[in-house]
Amino acid sequence: MYQAKRSGQTVTLFDERGGDSVTELHLEADLYRALDRGELRVTYQPTFNAASRLVGAEALLSWLHPVQGVVPPAVFIPMAEHSGLIVQIGRWVLREATRQLALWQRQYPHLTVSVNLSARQFRNNDLVQDVQAIVEESGIRPGTLVLEVTESLLMDVPDAQDVLMRLRELEIELDLDDFGTGYSSLSYLQRFPFTGLKIDRSFMTNLDLHPDGRGSTGENIVRSVVALAHSLHLSVTAEGVETQAQAEFLRGIGCEVLQGYLLGRPVAPEAFPLELLSVNTPVR
Ligand code: C2E
Ligand code: MG
Ligand code: MG
Ligand code: MG
Repeated sequence: MYQAKRSGQTVTLFDERGGDSVTELHLEADLYRALDRGELRVTYQPTFNAASRLVGAEALLSWLHPVQGVVPPAVFIPMAEHSGLIVQIGRWVLREATRQLALWQRQYPHLTVSVNLSARQFRNNDLVQDVQAIVEESGIRPGTLVLEVTESLLMDVPDAQDVLMRLRELEIELDLDDFGTGYSSLSYLQRFPFTGLKIDRSFMTNLDLHPDGRGSTGENIVRSVVALAHSLHLSVTAEGVETQAQAEFLRGIGCEVLQGYLLGRPVAPEAFPLELLSVNTPVR
C-alpha cells in the first residue's frame, strides 16, 4: 500500500491490513489534506479525582471527513503512523493542546493536559526539541503537560529510555498508557522514568464486581496494580470507567484519577466542563 502510494498509483498490489484497500488508500490520501483543511480536531476528555473534582483532560484527536463523517482514531492513527504523517499531526496536536491548556490555566492553574505519543514520533530525533519549543511557546506551567506512551511503543523504540529521561528534564509528566495490555509491563515500570500509569480499559470491563465484597479476580488484579503503582510513587488513572459501581470500587482502593464515559466523554474545548474544577488542588 505504501509503495503504491509513493509511486503515485491508485491501485494497490497488496494490503497488509486486509481491509478495503481502495477505501483505505483514498482515506490515506485524504489524511494528507485533512490537517490543512481543518478537518482534524482535538477533543478533550475530562479526568476526575476521587472527590469528583475535575483535574485534567486527555487530548484525543478526531477527524471529521467531509464524506465519510467521523473517522475514529483507531482507523486513521495507524494510517498516519504508516505514512509518517503522524509526526506532523502529532506536533500539531501538541501545539494545539498546550495552547488550549495555557488558556485554561489563566483561570485554573493546576489543570493538566495529557497528549498521546506514537512510536513514529518517538523515533523522530526532533521530538524532545519539538516538545521543548512547543512548551516554551505556550507558556503552560511546569509539570502540567503529561505525555502518554504505550507499552507497545516502548517495544518498538530502542532508545526510548533516553528520550523519556530528556522529557523528564523538561518537567514533562509521563504516563504509561493502556497498562497491562503488553508483555513486560512490570519491567517497563522499573526501567523507564514514568510518573503515572493508566490502567487499561479492559480491566474495567473484566472487573466483575461482587456485590458481597468477596473480591473477584478482576478486583484483586486492579487492587494489586494500584498498590504496586503507589509503592513506586506513581499516580494511577483508571480509564474506561462506565458504571457507578466501578467508580466506587476504584475510589475505595485509592485510585486517584478516574476517566470514562460515566464521568465525561471527549468534547470540543468550548464544551469542556471547567465548572467542575472548583477546588484548585494539584493531584500529581
Ligand atoms: P487511549 O489513549 O487509550 O485513549 C482512550 C480511548 O478510550 C479514547 O478513544 C476514549 O474516547 C476512549 N474512552 C474513554 N473513556 C471510555 C469509556 O468509558 N468507555 C469506552 N468504551 N471508551 C472510552 P479514542 O478517542 O477512540 O482513541 C483511541 C486511541 O487512539 C487512543 O487510546 C490513543 O491510543 C489513540 N489516539 C487518540 N488521539 C491520539 C493522538 O493525538 N495521537 C496519538 N498518537 N494517538 C492518539
Ligand atoms: Mg491515552
Ligand atoms: Mg489509554
Ligand atoms: Mg486505551
